[in-house]
This record gives sequence, structure tokens and C-alpha cells, in this order.
Amino acid sequence: MNRQVEALNILVVEDSKVTVKVLGNYLAAMNVSDPLIAENGTQALKIYERERPDVVLLDIKLPDINGFEVARQIRQMEGEHEWAAIIFLTAMNSDEDLAHGIAAGGDDYLVKPVSEVVFHAKVRAMQRLIGMQRRLVEVTRQLDSANAELQRLSTTDALTGIANRRSLDYFMEREWRRCLRMKKPLSLVMMDIDYFKLFNDKYGHQAGDDCLKKVADQIARAAPRGTDLAARYGGEEFTLVLGETDQDGAMWIAERVRQMVAELKVPHYATSSKFVTISCGVVSVLPDEHTSLEILLQSADASLYQAKRGGRDRVVAGQYGKF
Ligand code: GH3
Ligand code: MG
Ligand code: MG
Ligand code: MG
Repeated sequence: MNRQVEALNILVVEDSKVTVKVLGNYLAAMNVSDPLIAENGTQALKIYERERPDVVLLDIKLPDINGFEVARQIRQMEGEHEWAAIIFLTAMNSDEDLAHGIAAGGDDYLVKPVSEVVFHAKVRAMQRLIGMQRRLVEVTRQLDSANAELQRLSTTDALTGIANRRSLDYFMEREWRRCLRMKKPLSLVMMDIDYFKLFNDKYGHQAGDDCLKKVADQIARAAPRGTDLAARYGGEEFTLVLGETDQDGAMWIAERVRQMVAELKVPHYATSSKFVTISCGVVSVLPDEHTSLEILLQSADASLYQAKRGGRDRVVAGQYGKF
């Protein structure tokens, strides 16, 4: 007994009851019982739509739509990863019919009266193709999900789970072009944890990593819009990209992030509040042909440096082109 033959779901489309009976016997000998039966093309398409059989044995001369047209419509209904083997059944035996059948989407051809030996051989051949098709679909699915996982890994920072430098660069450039087109301002917030080297030295690298995760979470929470992105710029530095946001809006968000980090109340002996704090530099620009993303980044970096020099745990509004 061949177990794979048992697994086949077969549709017989045939208006001659005698032929249906003969084919039914041939299938029973292959251990396929209860094939689906359609007596005309309309019924065949309805059953196909509902049952999605693996093999369709398709008579060409049917009372309503001819078999070629049924095959064409079945091919149209098939989804991306679907394929049914279509074997035409006909009394005609001309090269033109064969060519026509294959062109209409058929895979093979059986001449009536159908010989049992040929019938079994052809169904087995289709069964092999169906097995290969199923494996191909399975491998394609695995590849798709591996690709999705790779995509996620290549754009996400492994430690914090927020966007990495690579997706930051990509997002910034995209948002820059979009804001340029829309004539909307674009803002950057550069953030850096205060005295983080001392934090690591005192509490250990693992505590440092935990702290980075918590800070990253707060930053991500402050940037929920589709035009925002929270990213780890590198080390203990983070960036917020705020599309369609002017300096006042960006200052408000940066100040909120600063407070949210302070409210974590992660103890840190070296800061004035005795908790982990961040410094932020904020710069906005209306992108046009005289401005660039590079200068915007440098300006935001310069304002972050000012926040550090000014005593840390603060937000400084910078100006585009001023370093
Ligand atoms: P400042 O207030 O001026 O920013 O001082 P700082 O000590 O934070 O600045 P500095 O750039 O000298 O030190 C950054 C430190 O951040 C160095 C390194 O120990 C720590 N660091 C960078 N990346 C990681 C990381 O992935 N995990 C941990 N635990 N520490 C990190
Ligand atoms: Mg017929
Ligand atoms: Mg730093
Ligand atoms: Mg730092």
C-alpha cells in the first residue's frame, strides 16, 4: 500500500457514468477511495474552489463549459503556492488536442478508453510531482521566515531591541527626503547617558547592559509615531528622529525622555541626582537644497556636547549649522 497515494485528493470531472465507474475502480485499486465527482464544468469549478484537490482528471467534452476552459479557470483560481495536477481525459487523439490541453494549463493527457496500466503510471507520475511541489512550498516558507528573521536581526540592536545604527541611517535618509518633499521640519535628538563609564566601573558591565535596556525602552516609548524612530546610535548614545516635528515639539519630547529616564531611579553615585540621567541635544531643520542631513547630525551632536558641558541631565536646543 502506498501511503502517499492515499493522501491524494482527486477530482474526476466526467459526464459519462460508465467512465466515472471505471476510473473509480482504478483509483480504488490504488487505494484512493471516494474521489470527488463533477458531471459538468460548472460543478467542477465549484468543487475545485471548495476542496482544492491535488489531481483533476478532466474530460474535454462536457455538457456545459469545455474542459480546456475549466483548466484555464482552475489555473486562475490557484493561489501563489498552489498547484493541482490536471490530466485531460478524451476520446479524441490528435496532436492539436494535446497541444491545446497543455496550453490551457493541463499537465498530461489520457486517451479513452483509459488503460489501467497507463492510468496508474500517470497518476503515480503526478503524485511524484505533487510531492516535490509540497516540499518546494515548505522550503519556500522556511526561506521566507528565515529572511524575515534576518531582516529583523539586521535592523535591530541585539542588546536593547530598538533600531540599530543601520536602520537609523536608512530611516533618517528616508524621512529627510519625505520632509523635503512635504516641506515639513525634521528634528533630531541626540542623547547620551551621563558618566556611564563610571557606572560600569562601579556596578559592573551586566548592570550597565541592564541600564542601557531600560533607557532604550523609555526612549522608544517617547517616539510612538510612524514618522518617529528611536535608535541606538552606538555605545550609550541614542538618537530620536522626529519627522514633521519642529524645534518646540522636539524639545518637548526630549525633555519628556530626560524625565522618563530620571524617573527610572536607577542609582548612580556619580551624578548630581544620584540616579542615572541623560543629556540631550536637539536640532530642527526644514530640509531644502541648501541643507544636509550630515550638518543636522553634527549640529545635534554639538548641542549634546553643550548639554554635557553645561552640567549634564539637561536638554539643549541647538541651531542648524552651529557647532
Ligand atoms: P559622559 O557623561 O561625558 O557621557 O561620560 P561617560 O562616562 O558616559 O562617557 P564615555 O564616552 O567616556 O563612556 C561611555 C561608556 O559607555 C564606555 C563604556 O564603558 C560604556 N558602554 C558603551 N557601550 C556599552 C555596552 O554595550 N554595555 C555596557 N555595559 N557599557 C557600555
Ligand atoms: Mg464527456
Ligand atoms: Mg558617549
Ligand atoms: Mg556618556
